[in-house]
Order: sequence, then C-alpha cells, then structure tokens
Amino acid sequence: MLNFERVKISHEDPKKRVESFVLEPVKEYSGSEAVAEASRCIGCNICTQACPASLDIGGYINSTAVGDPAQTVRIVFENLPFPAIIGRVCTHLCEDICVMYDTGGPIAIRHLKRYAADTFADYGEILNLPKKKFIGKKVAVIGGGPSGLTAAYYLSVQGIKVTLFEKLPALGGFMKTGIPRYRLPQEVLDKEIGFIISQGVDVKLNTDIGKDITFDEILKGYDAVYISVGNQKPHMTGTPGSDAVNVLHATQFLRRVSFGERIDVGKNVVVIGGGFTANDSARTSIRFGAKNVYIMYRRREIDRPGYPSMNADEEMEETIEEFVHYMWEVTPFEYVKEGDRVIKLRYWQNEMVMEAGGRAKPVPQKDKVHEIDVDFIIEATGQETDYTFMEDEYLRMLRLTPQGQPIINEAGMTSIPGLFSGGDSTNSNRDLISAVRDADRAVNGILNYLNVMDQVSEDRLPILDRWKKYSTTSAKRAYAERSR
Ligand SMILES: Cc1cc2nc3c(=O)[nH]c(=O)nc-3n(C[C@H](O)[C@H](O)[C@H](O)COP(=O)(O)OP(=O)(O)OC[C@H]3O[C@@H](n4cnc5c(N)ncnc54)[C@H](O)[C@@H]3O)c2cc1C
Ligand code: SF4
Repeated sequence: MLNFERVKISHEDPKKRVESFVLEPVKEYSGSEAVAEASRCIGCNICTQACPASLDIGGYINSTAVGDPAQTVRIVFENLPFPAIIGRVCTHLCEDICVMYDTGGPIAIRHLKRYAADTFADYGEILNLPKKKFIGKKVAVIGGGPSGLTAAYYLSVQGIKVTLFEKLPALGGFMKTGIPRYRLPQEVLDKEIGFIISQGVDVKLNTDIGKDITFDEILKGYDAVYISVGNQKPHMTGTPGSDAVNVLHATQFLRRVSFGERIDVGKNVVVIGGGFTANDSARTSIRFGAKNVYIMYRRREIDRPGYPSMNADEEMEETIEEFVHYMWEVTPFEYVKEGDRVIKLRYWQNEMVMEAGGRAKPVPQKDKVHEIDVDFIIEATGQETDYTFMEDEYLRMLRLTPQGQPIINEAGMTSIPGLFSGGDSTNSNRDLISAVRDADRAVNGILNYLNVMDQVSEDRLPILDRWKKYSTTSAKRAYAERSR
C-alpha cells in the first residue's frame, strides 16, 4: 500500500517547554525525514501564488527532495533573506492551499525551509554573491525590522550604500521584541541578521529618527529613503484601572522580556486580545510561573485574528498544550484596584448578534457582572502606526488612508518623491512574509527611481508576483472549507 502521509512533525513535551524560555516547541526534521517529506511535493506551485512574497516553493522543495538543501536556500534567497526565521514563524498560508492537503496532508513547506536553512552556518559559502561595485547611490532605511532588513539586503547586494537607522539597541523589529525566543531562537536571529549586515549595511542603533536625527536631514541626505517603522505604538483599552502598575501593553511586556528582564506576573494573569501577541504573552507568563493564565477575547473562537488558517490553529493548540485557557465572547469593563495595583477584573459575557454584513457583533450582557482575581493584566489589543517623527511640512505632503497608513503606489513609493514605505505600517496582513514582500517591491521601485536598473545584477533582484492567480484570501478560503 502506498503511503502519502505527511512526515510527522514532532513536538517537545509541553511540561518541559513551559520550564524553558529557549526550548523550541517544534522539533526539526532529520535529513531523511526532510527528503521523504519533500518527495511528496508534485511541484505544481499553486502554493507560490498564495505566498505574499511569491517564493518558488515547488522549486525549492524539489531541491530538498533531491538532497540539495544548498539549492533550496539559494532559491529562497531570490525573494527572502532569512529562511531560518521564516522557516519557524511564517504564517504559511501556502500550506493551507497546498493541493496535497487531502492526500495525506499539506507539504510541510515551512518546516522544510527551516531544515534547509539550519543545515548551513554561513550562507556566504553557498550563495556565491559576486563582489559588488558601489554604484554611487545612498539609501536610508528607517526601522530595522524584517521589512527594513530585507530592503537593506537587496539594495546592498546591488552596490547601493545603505544606512539602516533603528531606535532600539538591537535589530529585528518584532522578530526580536515581539516573538519570544522559544519560538525564534537568538542564535537564528544573530545568524540571519548578521549575514544581512555583513553585506556592507551601515547600522545606526539607538537612533530614533525625529529625536536623534530629524527626518528632514535623512530625506535631504540620501538619494532615496525606505520607511519601515512598523506598527509599534501600543493601543491600550482605556479600561478604568488600566493605569495600575500591574497592567502592561503586550508589546511593552514582550519587549522587556526580549531584552532579558524577568517580570513578576504573579499567579493569575489575564491577557486581553486574541492574536499572535496575546498567545505569546500568555505563553511567556506561564514560563514566568503563572498558574492561571486566561486569554479573554470579545468575539467567538472563529473570529479570532489570523483565523481561518492552519497557523492560527497550530498556535492555539500549542497555547492550550501549555496550560493557557481561552475565554471567548467576554468584555472586560473594569480593573478593580487596591492602591496602585489591580486585584480583580470585572467582565460581562457577550452575546453574538448577526449584523447585516454577515459579521457577528459582540453585545455585552450587562445584567450580570463576572469577576476574576488577577495579579497581572496584559493588553494585547493592537498597535498603531506612528508617523509623528516627520516634520509637519512632510506630514502635510504624505497622503494617508482613512486608517492613517501612507498610501503607496505599485512601486512602493509614497506621495513624497523618493520616499518609499512598506511592512506593517502600510500593509493589512501584518505578518513577516508580507513585510518582506513590501520590501522586495520597494527595492525594485527604488532602483528604478534612482535610474540604476542598467547597472544592477538582474539575478539579484527580488522576483515579484510569480503566477498570481490565487492569493492569501484564496488560501484562507481553502482552509476554511477543508477544516469544516
Ligand atoms: C508578539 C508578536 C508576535 C508575532 N508573531 C508573528 C508570527 O509568528 N509570524 C508572523 O509572520 N508575524 C508575526 N508577527 C507580526 C510581525 O512581527 C510583523 O508583521 C513584522 O515584524 C512587521 O515588520 P516591519 O518591518 O514592518 O515592522 P517591525 O517589525 O515593527 O519593525 C519596525 C522597526 O522600526 C523601528 N522604529 C520605529 N520607529 C522608528 C524611528 N522613528 N526611528 C528609528 N527606528 C524606528 C522599531 O524600533 C522596529 O525595530 C508578530 C508580531 C508580534 C508583536
Ligand atoms: S501546492 Fe503543495 S504539491 Fe503543489 S508545489 Fe506547493 S507544496 Fe508542492
């Protein structure tokens, strides 16, 4: 009997996981497992069309299948300069649409990328990057997250002099300060960010544009500018009592943890929200020794951010395995303080009422008040884009969407000539691979704008939009139908 089943991905024991801030929940494939799994792929490349960054997935899976992970890494580098990171934490919508889904399970695309990338300590040895000539243009990148790093890499390998400004003491953006180390190890960040920087990127850490250097100086001092400042401004709920010392926004909480702080969260923790940030905060709290950790979300399980997708289901499964509880359809409305600390959280249960557009709206049932003891509250209730680092004259020139994000054209350029933008501050997917894709587009746009396309090496240009017939939305629809 032929066996088309997906090669099993093993997980660490949750009891061991929650004792450690660095133990990865998901174990790596061995060489023979990777070859066996990759051999299931039929190379149709339907998945590529759902990948925001249009990676040649069929191509690189085939390289692993024939025992050539170096070629896998080379193909991934056509569009993406950090395969080991994406191989761990990508939203992998490609797998949701994979044609093998109903024939033994989707190809483990993300996991195979991790395997191939982890095979090599130094990508320089397999990529054979040609010696580049400086082509006389300078570009500033503001923000050292995945989008800024991708732009810095693809511009640098073309001989553009890139200066990367980052306000924090470390690069990585939310890869460093949001995603915890047990999901994304520090060695992996160091290896991949280190390789990008080694292409000649001039990095200015602890440099907050708008405070340490004016935006005007940057715009006038460079031939083009790429803004990739993300969505970093915390959005707090404003619930009465939220000024207490034991209430933090999730991104502040996770950032402090990422720089090594050990936060005393006590025994009872409530996390408000439902996406990546809520799950990571809850799982981190468990690792700090909390006993009762609840994620409170105001809508239904099926309405949570990121769903429908296999990634959202896997994330929830891992969170539950780590002893976190979800509370759906609840509205916290008061944090009861004693002195400067919250001791209880009051909430209503919601009823979901269908609205005209087909979306269910949470309506709190206020006749009954529920209460829960808390030692710490973490609000994972979203972030906003903050462009206040720009002077007013530029803010007036910058055309924004009603949601306050800069409008960019098909080359990634804003309404200010020579000013490009991408990543969380302009796209609505708000994931790593979309931040990469925005940077790929802007790199092409910047090189065109600088009028240097005749001097660049074409095989080092990120490839955009391979065979776009399906999309991330198609992948989500496919997953919703398949998991019904
Ligand atoms: C907790 C958490 C978990 C996540 N998990 C996942 C996941 O598993 N998979 C996934 O695909 N996505 C995940 N995401 C989303 C993903 O991290 C983001 O989509 C991605 O990081 C956005 O990249 P970016 O480069 O646009 O911005 P960011 O990563 O936000 O980076 C922006 C950078 O700009 C810097 N900056 C801001 N303003 C200035 C200034 N004025 N001067 C200088 N520097 C400045 C910031 O300090 C920051 O380093 C997660 C996000 C969070 C918060
Ligand atoms: S859709 Fe599945 S089978 Fe087709 S190329 Fe992608 S991974 Fe391979």
